[in-house]
Amino acid sequence: MTRVFSGIQPTGEPHIGNYFGAMQNYVKLGEQYGKNALYCIVDLHAPTNPAAYQPELLAERTFEMALANLAVGLDPQQVVFFVQSHIREHSELSWILTLQTPVGELERMTQYKDKAQKLESTPAGLLMYPVLMAADILLYKADTVPVGEDQTQHIELAREIARRFNHTYGPTFPEPKAVYAQDALRIPGVDGQGKMSKSKGESSTLGLFESLDSIWNKLRVAPTDPARVRRTDPGDPEKCLVGDYHKLFSDDQTILEVYDGCRTAGIGCIDCKKRLMVGIERTLVPIQQRGAELRAQPDDVRDALEHGAAQARQIAEPVMDEVRGKVGFLGSRR
Ligand code: SF4
Repeated sequence: MTRVFSGIQPTGEPHIGNYFGAMQNYVKLGEQYGKNALYCIVDLHAPTNPAAYQPELLAERTFEMALANLAVGLDPQQVVFFVQSHIREHSELSWILTLQTPVGELERMTQYKDKAQKLESTPAGLLMYPVLMAADILLYKADTVPVGEDQTQHIELAREIARRFNHTYGPTFPEPKAVYAQDALRIPGVDGQGKMSKSKGESSTLGLFESLDSIWNKLRVAPTDPARVRRTDPGDPEKCLVGDYHKLFSDDQTILEVYDGCRTAGIGCIDCKKRLMVGIERTLVPIQQRGAELRAQPDDVRDALEHGAAQARQIAEPVMDEVRGKVGFLGSRR
């Protein structure tokens, strides 16, 4: 039996990079695996990034991320969708796994090294981040974890943590494997400065709930193939972020026409961008409408998360009972 687990960072309003790189894939995997697809907004992880963490915004960002996933079509009746801090067992299992995890292995994590070197004082939570991530996955005995390539090392560590626990206490956890979404493309930022990322500011991103006017204002001035100095110069759509975006938003016929038009100088860049806007509008308007409906009925979002947490508990509690017993804790009669 395949069980999928994925953690979603509560970064507030997602952008189209999040949508095509992860959220769309969650919906597809949910259709395939139903209740064996678990998606968790990982708010316990958020404070490990002191640069981005603001306590007064965390609840709102968690809510916004939940709303966005529901707006793009995640069905909370079909999958298990919940907030990490609503399930206490994540923290408890994380502690038990911490007891067995060598500090040296954690210090070797590339993300830890990158983030720690930018900080004056490194919180222990940053070092322990991958153990909590392993606990998130193993608590549900998940064996399949859709992630970005930057998480490969953490999944390897989760496998190692599962192996070590199984070796000490007997077979308990499957060794999870990473799967990379087919659509997890490296979506370029609209400013042309590498991958689309919120950390680079709003000039890099096209927000899922951003107004079409605002999107057009960014797109209008977005860099194109530098070879097209004049309207009559042919270009290469493979070297242009607008060409990349067409692959995400436009239908096959439009892609064919604009790619050909670019290479033959049959279409100008502004016309090409206008045609892209048609696809963007077709994709984003229904999501934005659904988002507005949910925003007007916030209890629907909260109810969905409560429902998901109740279902997550049904899996997490017996697993945690099993772990407590194996580790040797005196059982409680609760
Ligand atoms: Fe880019 Fe389109 Fe201009 Fe080609 S025609 S360079 S794909 S914006």
